[in-house]
Amino acid sequence: MSHPISLHEDRLFPADPMQRAIARRLYATVRTLPIISPHGHTDPQWFADNRPFPDPATLFVIPDHYVYRMLYSQGIPLESLGIPRTDGIPVEKDSRKIWRLFAQHWFLFRGTPTQMWFNHVLHNVFKIGVRLTPEAADLIYDQIAERLSEPGFLPRALYERFNIEVLATTESPLDPLVHHQKLRDSAWKGRVIPTYRPDPVVDPEFAGFARNVQRLGEITREDTTTWQGYLRALFDRRKFFASQGATATDHGHVSAATSDLSLVQCEALLGKAIAGTILPGDAQQFRGQMLTEMARMSIEDGLVMQIHPGSFRNHNPAVFGAFGLDKGADIPMRTDYVHDLKPLLDRFGNDVRLSVILFTLDESTYSRELAPLAGHYPALKLGPAWWFYDSPEGMRFYRERTTETAGFYNTVGFNDDTRAFPSIPARHDVARRVDCAFLARLVAEHRLDEDEAQEVAIDLAYRLAKKAYKL
Ligand SMILES: [Zn+2]
Repeated sequence: MSHPISLHEDRLFPADPMQRAIARRLYATVRTLPIISPHGHTDPQWFADNRPFPDPATLFVIPDHYVYRMLYSQGIPLESLGIPRTDGIPVEKDSRKIWRLFAQHWFLFRGTPTQMWFNHVLHNVFKIGVRLTPEAADLIYDQIAERLSEPGFLPRALYERFNIEVLATTESPLDPLVHHQKLRDSAWKGRVIPTYRPDPVVDPEFAGFARNVQRLGEITREDTTTWQGYLRALFDRRKFFASQGATATDHGHVSAATSDLSLVQCEALLGKAIAGTILPGDAQQFRGQMLTEMARMSIEDGLVMQIHPGSFRNHNPAVFGAFGLDKGADIPMRTDYVHDLKPLLDRFGNDVRLSVILFTLDESTYSRELAPLAGHYPALKLGPAWWFYDSPEGMRFYRERTTETAGFYNTVGFNDDTRAFPSIPARHDVARRVDCAFLARLVAEHRLDEDEAQEVAIDLAYRLAKKAYKL
């Protein structure tokens, strides 16, 4: 028996009829606004080559750690879901088999944002009217596979259909950005831009750090074994990224720690980092110094800086050993922003030319640390509810905890931060609905006039992201 997908037009709106009516009116003003996606992890090659996306499992299961971490948590081996192993031991290659396994366990996602996004994608993108169940698995597989071969489902066509105005990807400074160059040379009007993410060359504990720094020197013809040469090389790559359309950098550090060290200390730490003899405390100091250096460079070249600390990466050594990075084993940690950011803020916090966007995986810091910091320092802005909290509850909590102190205008709109390209409209739609629901409550409680709420709704859905990321 097949069940229709229910995408209720009032989903995520307040149940109270008065608030619901306001939320509907607000949402009507933002529903069709273009999508600004200033931070994410889609593959620029998709748009550069514009070849069809592969089969349903390769599109929905294999690249999406939101999906397979849940299946893994229920004892399903990652090999059976087609996740490649780093040691080359073969894994499941039959896409239909992977899809059936996924369908058998789809019920695990009940009540999660993944369920909501996926249903939205099936219904609105692929025009599939029935819910994924073990019985409907083959039918849905065939329908998606057929659509993927149609011209209207090529990456560029979907980009246009999704009404995306700009889409940022994320790259290492060592990346030659060939796909972005190809896109810029093409006649296609879509705007896909890189983001400078220097973790591989500024984090001494990043795998292959010494080799990466050497490579950075080769690319830029700088002596990266000296502190000044190393900084010049990093700055040189920032300039190259900006020439390819980048407007932002992104920093995925373990903590928010920043440092302001002397030249002698910096030179000594770089030497130890390259030699591989740096101790963990010194590595933290070095990373912290690099955030401060990046802030200084941002003042010079205008790139917006994103810091998203607080993830304990690769918590599960067995999964890391067999499958490598980004396999759903990253776990949120407690984070301290008040003390950790002080060295950077002492130097640059009052500089209006600098814009640092802070993210968190520690929700307890919203009202205690982040909103007060962003509500004071001109150089700070608050990024949206992110990753584990990119959910209706996460977004609502974020607005409830930050608006009082930081207002709406120290925040930067929504970003989807996704690898799952077809889910981008679904994710932005959830954010727009949740924000409209929040605003509707303020209007219903006579804390905000509806015309003001309407303006804020448009700012949150569209204008703030454009402004914050200089797009
Ligand atoms: Zn990201």
